[in-house]
Amino acid sequence: MKKSNSFYQQLFAELPKHRIHFDYEMKSFSTFHVGGKADVLFLPKSISEIKNALAICRDNSIPFQVLGRGSNILISDRGIRGLTIYLGRNFTGVSHEGNYIRAQAGASLAAIAALAAKNNLTGLEFSAGIPGSVGGAVLMNASAYDSEIKNVVISSSYLSPQDEIITLNGAEHKFDYRTSVYQGLPAIILEADFALKEGKRLEIYDKIQDYQIKRRASQPIDEFSAGSAFKRPPENYASKLIADAGLKGYRAMNAGVSKKHAGFIINYGGASASDINRVFAHVKSVVETKFAINLQPEVKWIGDWPAEEIQWKYL
Ligand SMILES: Cc1cc2nc3c(=O)[nH]c(=O)nc-3n(C[C@H](O)[C@H](O)[C@H](O)COP(=O)(O)OP(=O)(O)OC[C@H]3O[C@@H](n4cnc5c(N)ncnc54)[C@H](O)[C@@H]3O)c2cc1C
Repeated sequence: MKKSNSFYQQLFAELPKHRIHFDYEMKSFSTFHVGGKADVLFLPKSISEIKNALAICRDNSIPFQVLGRGSNILISDRGIRGLTIYLGRNFTGVSHEGNYIRAQAGASLAAIAALAAKNNLTGLEFSAGIPGSVGGAVLMNASAYDSEIKNVVISSSYLSPQDEIITLNGAEHKFDYRTSVYQGLPAIILEADFALKEGKRLEIYDKIQDYQIKRRASQPIDEFSAGSAFKRPPENYASKLIADAGLKGYRAMNAGVSKKHAGFIINYGGASASDINRVFAHVKSVVETKFAINLQPEVKWIGDWPAEEIQWKYL
């Protein structure tokens, strides 16, 4: 994109300059640690800044992409066109009143779990070790161990492309395994409200620690990954199928399947997004050939992917 056009002029005029970055390398905004440059990266601090940014995109017919904390995405080596709105840096406010927590969409799950624990509130222990944001977790209905986002979120609000702020309550979220109504909406989730129960602080901390120990023992949490690569197929486990197909520890160049947990695809350092994409394609194809089970990725492909590279996803 040429920097002289009216899109860039409006960005400079209407948004805080120190939070706009041009041609910005996105690797460090993704837990896979891969991906090319965003044409424009914006790190908003408030709802009004997000609204302004969206209005500028609308006026100039520029696409936008929203990211939470980048822990469930594979950004193309060719980068992301248009405006990338990353919420996990500055849009992270959290507050607490009685048994309720309100969090802006970019707040980390670790932060809300910590706030809950500090205030003797139970219900968010499961989320403490998930490296995502509140918005990403609501969109994905993130879950772990004994619970899921569905059990604790009572309402959320989002910004529609028409500039309306809309609130959803309870069942309106249509939470299901790794999905919610947001996966079908062109929406920016702004915040969510969590209803928790009174508990005992030490028991809450113990539970969080227990889950962390289990996670560390079973998952490669110090490697670059996006967590579970594939969704759980009906009545089965992706990691079991991948291991049974002989792919645990499979490696192609600097990407591969974790030796510790076959459900995780890893960037061992220096892999490209295309290298990782090829590992996904290989795993899906081998599992399909061996077990006639069609694995579906849990991770989201973001940015400018050549259609031929990602055709395998639709097979
Ligand atoms: C080591 C590791 C362990 C993990 N363990 C778990 C686990 O136990 N359970 C689990 O469920 N997941 C797990 N994950 C996956 C991931 O953390 C979750 O899916 C998380 O909810 C993603 O949140 P995020 O903010 O990082 O989303 P991102 O990766 O930033 O985005 C994911 C998708 O959500 C969209 N999105 C994000 N924020 C918004 C918003 N505000 N409005 C609209 N759309 C938005 C993005 O456009 C994208 O399509 C793990 C990941 C890693 C790296």
